[in-house]
Amino acid sequence: TPYTAAPVRYETIPYRRSGRSGLDLPSISFGLWQKFGTDYPFATQREIILRAFDLGITHFDNADRYGPPHRAAQQNFGAVLSRDLAPYRDELILSTKAGNPIGASPYLRGGSRKSLLNSLEHSLRDLGTEYVDIFYHHSPDLDTPLQESVGALVDAVRQGKALYVGISNYQPDRVHEAAELLPAEGVPLLIHQTRYSIYDRGPERGGLLETASSDGFGVIVYSPLAQGLLTDKYLETIPEGARARNSAFLSPEVIDDTYRQRTSALNKIAESRGQSLAQLALQWVLRRPEVTSALIGASSVEQLDHNLAALSFPTLTDEELALIDEHGVH
Ligand code: NDP
Repeated sequence: TPYTAAPVRYETIPYRRSGRSGLDLPSISFGLWQKFGTDYPFATQREIILRAFDLGITHFDNADRYGPPHRAAQQNFGAVLSRDLAPYRDELILSTKAGNPIGASPYLRGGSRKSLLNSLEHSLRDLGTEYVDIFYHHSPDLDTPLQESVGALVDAVRQGKALYVGISNYQPDRVHEAAELLPAEGVPLLIHQTRYSIYDRGPERGGLLETASSDGFGVIVYSPLAQGLLTDKYLETIPEGARARNSAFLSPEVIDDTYRQRTSALNKIAESRGQSLAQLALQWVLRRPEVTSALIGASSVEQLDHNLAALSFPTLTDEELALIDEHGVH
C-alpha cells in the first residue's frame, strides 16, 4: 500500500536544539543498529520506520557497519526511502558513521581521510540519497592525527555530501579538541554520540556533559535502555528472539541475580509512577538539558509506541532520582 505520512506527525514529540547550532532533533530518535539487516523481515523494518516518522521521529541513525552483513541496514533504509519516504526527504535528518571496521582492508577502518570519505561515498549509494544530514567519525582513532579525521568531515560538508558533522565514542578531552578545531574550518561540531543510561553513567562521570554545554555541541545518547536491559523483559526469563539471545553485543551472562535485584527495584519505582521501566529509563536520560535526543532501537511497532509514550509522563522528581541512584549506580 502506498504510504502517506500522518498529518499529525508534529504533534507528539518535543524537539530539542542541538547545542548552539540551528538544528532541532526529536527528543527520541531511531537507530538501525540491530535487526535491520538481512536477519529480520523487511516488512517489519519498513513498518517500524514509517511508524516512527508518523510519530514525529525525523531523525534516523545509521552506520556503514550496521547489518548483518555490513551495509545491509543502510540498504534497507534506502529501500524505504525510495519507496515511501522520498517525498519527505526535506523533513528527514539522516546520519551515517564511518571508521569502525567493515572489512580486512586498511581503508575499511579507522579515521584516515581515505577510509572516512570512501565510506561516505558508499553509504550515500546504499541510502540512495545525495547527502546525509550528519556525518560521524564512529570511534576515536588515536593512531591518526585528529586534524586528518576532522578534516575529512569538514570536506564532506564542503563537497555537499553532509550538512553537519558529528563524532562518537571520543573521550571528553578529545571531543573538546575536535570542538575547538572544527569552527576554525567553518564547520562547528554539531553533536557527540555516546552511550548513556541509568546503567552507564560514563558521560556524567567523565565530564562529557559539561564539555557539551561549554563548547556548545549537542549530545545524542545511544542504548538509553541498555539494549533492553532497562525494560522488564529480562526479569523472569530471556524471551525467545530477544537481543540477549541472539546478539554478539549483549551476553546473556549479564542477566544474573545482581542484575535481577537491581532491575526489579527500578521496575518498582516505575510502577509507583504508573509507567514501565523502559519509559522511566528514557525520561531519565532526557532529564539532562545537555542531552539533545535519546537514540533508541526497537524490534516491533509495539515497542516503539510503548517507548514514545514515555514523553507523556511527568518529569522525575528529585526524590525519585535519588531512589534511582540508589539502585542504578554500580
Ligand atoms: P536501546 O537501549 O534503546 O535498545 C533497544 C532494544 O531494546 C530494542 O531493539 C529491543 O531489542 C529492546 N526494546 C526496546 N524497547 C523495548 C520495550 N519497550 N520492551 C522490551 N524490549 C524493548 O538502544 P540500542 O542499543 O538499540 O541503540 C540504539 C541506536 O543507537 C542504534 O540503533 C544505533 O543507531 C546507535 N548506537 C550507536 C553506537 C555507536 O557506537 N555510536 C553503538 C550502539 C548503538 P529486542 O526486542 O531485540 O530484544
